Amino acid sequence: MKRVHRFYSDNLFLRATSVISTDVVREMCTIQKAAPLATMALGRAVTGAILMAAQLRDKQVVALHFRGNGPLGSIYAEASYEGECRGWCDHPEAAVPFKNGRIDVAAGLGIGLLNVIRSQPFEKAPHIGTVELATSEIGDDIAYYLHQSHQTPSVIALGAVLNTDGQVEVAGGVLIELMPGASDAIISELEASVRTAKPLAEMLSNGCNPIELLTNFVGTIPMNPSEHPFDIKYTCRCSLDRAERSINMLGRDEIKEIVSLGVASNVRCDFCGRSYSISLERLREMLTQFDVMN
Ligand SMILES: [Zn+2]
Repeated sequence: MKRVHRFYSDNLFLRATSVISTDVVREMCTIQKAAPLATMALGRAVTGAILMAAQLRDKQVVALHFRGNGPLGSIYAEASYEGECRGWCDHPEAAVPFKNGRIDVAAGLGIGLLNVIRSQPFEKAPHIGTVELATSEIGDDIAYYLHQSHQTPSVIALGAVLNTDGQVEVAGGVLIELMPGASDAIISELEASVRTAKPLAEMLSNGCNPIELLTNFVGTIPMNPSEHPFDIKYTCRCSLDRAERSINMLGRDEIKEIVSLGVASNVRCDFCGRSYSISLERLREMLTQFDVMN
């Protein structure tokens, strides 16, 4: 249940990924102290990143940076091929009025851009693709990106079901991509089954597994599983070293000011919530290094 399931059709014209992402979404939203709106948006975004990353290769990472003008601000979600993921939101406390009795993610995100950043371990510069936000519902925006940048039509459903306390009850999603050369017959078969599919939230609430989630959307099109033996987990690459570097980037004058306050400096990682304490002694060392350099 904690893995991304990958599938392909007999003729390889369809490929799909499906996941129940409840645990990582819950962990992320607890760290982010996310209110229901941010929980819904972050849940969709990180689930989308997980689904996309599972179609990459070893050690590759995909990051989705939604830069809207709504009250949520920016939303960032990233996942690796191996299932490590993390995410943050500028304003996790943001709220907007319900629309038709539902959380209005589109109003929370507003209009703006989606940057999709793909990085590979041996490439210095990551590949960045940018599209305008299509509907700001997250899933549609990813589909729009795949179509614009990769000429890949897709079906994507991302969702989270919240309990009465606004916390994640269950989250998950499915991504089905049409590969080049897909016949009209398979396209219409997929369209027909998507039209009759049950809503994602209903599937998730009923405790479906990734295979049932996929079948709900592909119907009777035969899909074969493909090995992907990685558990998804909320992971952060932050470290004391990185925290020190971020302080160092503030520059000499700023560090001098921190030292003059006479207390250790705390750096909190936005992704995992971990705090790093940089001692006064270490801050003084950093200052000395600036002086040596000049
Ligand atoms: Zn971290």
